Amino acid sequence: MVSLATRHVMQANKSKNTKPELKVRAALRAAGLTGYRLHWKKAPGKPDICFPGRKIAIFVNGCFWHRCPHCNLALPKSNVDFWVAKFERNVSRDERDRLLLAQDGWTVLVIWECRLKKGRFDATMSDLIRQIRRASAPGARTQARVIEVGATAPWKLRERRVRARRRNRR
Ligand SMILES: [Zn+2]
Repeated sequence: MVSLATRHVMQANKSKNTKPELKVRAALRAAGLTGYRLHWKKAPGKPDICFPGRKIAIFVNGCFWHRCPHCNLALPKSNVDFWVAKFERNVSRDERDRLLLAQDGWTVLVIWECRLKKGRFDATMSDLIRQIRRASAPGARTQARVIEVGATAPWKLRERRVRARRRNRR
């Protein structure tokens, strides 16, 4: 038996061209969105996938390494200090890269790995493709921002809960 932490370390050794990245790339090609660059060195943070001409960067984030807000995965049981420091570094590097890209006029699309699971994959990909088309439209370049793809925003969830409560009261 390999411990959970060891398994994650082993997975991290092949952090490029991961299975989720390959699935996203296949979906882009199927939608006719070709011409992307992989881990392009000239863009801050070397995005997993990017369209330099349209200034669109896509990050496919593993939930464990990048500390997914949806999954909230537990810390490994041993070497806690080591892991906390490591995760803090990862998260602040992600933030810095997103900021640098946005400041430079890029649209940053973030996809959490858990949004690519069976049952969610298709919806996440159609959201991704919609966001790419929107960011590619004329004039869109001035609205650089960071967008999380395929997730329901917390404020939307709150709104939905409020609406449900109101319905129940009737
Ligand atoms: Zn997640």
